[in-house]
Amino acid sequence: MLDAAIGIDAAGVVQLFNRAAEAIFGFSREDVIGEEMAELLIPQEYRERHWAGFRRLVEGGSSRILGRRVEVAGLHSDGTEFPAELTIGRVGEEPALWMAFVRDLSERQARERELEHLVHDNELLLTSIGDGVLRLSTDGLITYANPAAGGLLGFSSKELLGQHAHSLMHHSHEDGSVYRVEECPVYGALRGEICRVTTEVFWRRDGTHFAVDYTSAPIREQGRIVGAVCCFAEITAARQRERDLQERVRFGDEIHRALQEERFVLHGQPISPAADPQRPVRHELLIRMKDLARPDVLRGPGEFLPQAERYGLINQIDRWVISKALEEAGRRPVSLNLSAKSVAEPEIADLILAGVQERAIPRGNLMVEITETTALEDLTAAHRFIQRLTDIGCGIALDDFGTGYGTLAHLKELPVSHLKIDMAFVRNLTESTDDERVVRSIVSLARNFGMKTIAEGVETAAAMQLLQRLGVDYLQGYHLGRPLPLERD
Ligand code: C2E
Ligand code: CA
Ligand code: CA
Repeated sequence: MLDAAIGIDAAGVVQLFNRAAEAIFGFSREDVIGEEMAELLIPQEYRERHWAGFRRLVEGGSSRILGRRVEVAGLHSDGTEFPAELTIGRVGEEPALWMAFVRDLSERQARERELEHLVHDNELLLTSIGDGVLRLSTDGLITYANPAAGGLLGFSSKELLGQHAHSLMHHSHEDGSVYRVEECPVYGALRGEICRVTTEVFWRRDGTHFAVDYTSAPIREQGRIVGAVCCFAEITAARQRERDLQERVRFGDEIHRALQEERFVLHGQPISPAADPQRPVRHELLIRMKDLARPDVLRGPGEFLPQAERYGLINQIDRWVISKALEEAGRRPVSLNLSAKSVAEPEIADLILAGVQERAIPRGNLMVEITETTALEDLTAAHRFIQRLTDIGCGIALDDFGTGYGTLAHLKELPVSHLKIDMAFVRNLTESTDDERVVRSIVSLARNFGMKTIAEGVETAAAMQLLQRLGVDYLQGYHLGRPLPLERD
């Protein structure tokens, strides 16, 4: 906030009162101009002292106060007192006007007290927080460092003791130019300033540097500066934490709203027998989200599923997908995708089982796709899930097959009905003999286990023909049909 500027004539009457003064004292200009300044703006107990000083000033006597900063108490229109910093200057000769510049120190002092409090009373807290905290003596030597400070700077807390804070961690700007001691904000606190800095770097022991956000403040005892305290945090970590938190809240709201406003939609992509590609036998359900601002714009699952998974919201989405898929499965064969988290949760299998029974879904109409990686993450849970769904006539496809490591060894423990050959092996199939070999072996593996194969990502006629020759059972991809909104009757 700007300084309050108050002009007073030789009689102590207010002649000038700026906007900042209105904000700081809570008086309007009209309230104050023409009134005796001290009566309104100075707490009663200080008025007499003020008058004595002011008279001396006007009479040209001692000018101790002129041009210097002093800490005083101000009186707000609501009757409360606040700490203030006062500077007085004289403008003009006859008649002279005295200018008082007043700065509200409440906020600053609160921060200062907070920091002092931290250092004096909360050593325990200081050992556990992630921010670095240093206490400096009046000559800039480190007299206390918490473990985080040591960690951030690459020293043990003990090694930091007695070092010159400035030369240790603050010897040059980010651009490499040298930081002079006189301009060092860490030491600024020793000159009585509170410094908040967000665009500097500190150096580590190993010569690397990191961006910091720090505040340094003087420590006073009975008004005398006896040292300083500096709190610092590595900016990337601090900013990241903040951003993450905001993002989680924002994203959670967005998913919640999208569910309430029914802005999720399922598209269906045909899966066809290799022997009869024109006649799809099933549709894979793929989720999209209508944009809030522009409902005609659909956002793909890659834009929201990873975050939903990270923030623990995927379950709500999976549940929504299951309810829609059950509805659709009453009409025709579909397959739905489930996240790893849902596969591991018995309630999700319960939900599907109950739905299939309630709606009397024909056997085989519902298929669930779980990725190979998901299955490998928790083999026991995956096995239980697969078993329960297989028992009620649901198909299970191992999605993105061939991309995980070590599934082959476990395939006999995973009684799935279908393997979906990942599109990574299909995309360049016609040019790559390696890919051809992989597809060939997946097909023979599946046959040995009594499973069917589905090739994903079939984009060309050439790929389709090759896959037919290799003995793949089903095909899916842009060449056969893109994902489209489900038909509604
Ligand atoms: P996925 O299960 O492997 O689905 C196949 C993805 O490949 C889909 O992308 C599909 O649109 C796309 N695709 C189909 N044919 C072709 C093709 O010929 N060429 C190419 N380049 N791509 C093709 P989409 O819809 O963006 O979905 C991406 C992933 O998001 C899915 O991969 C699946 O893991 C996940 N997902 C989609 N819907 C759901 C859902 O409802 N629930 C959950 N938990 N995950 C879903
Ligand atoms: Ca899938
Ligand atoms: Ca896939």
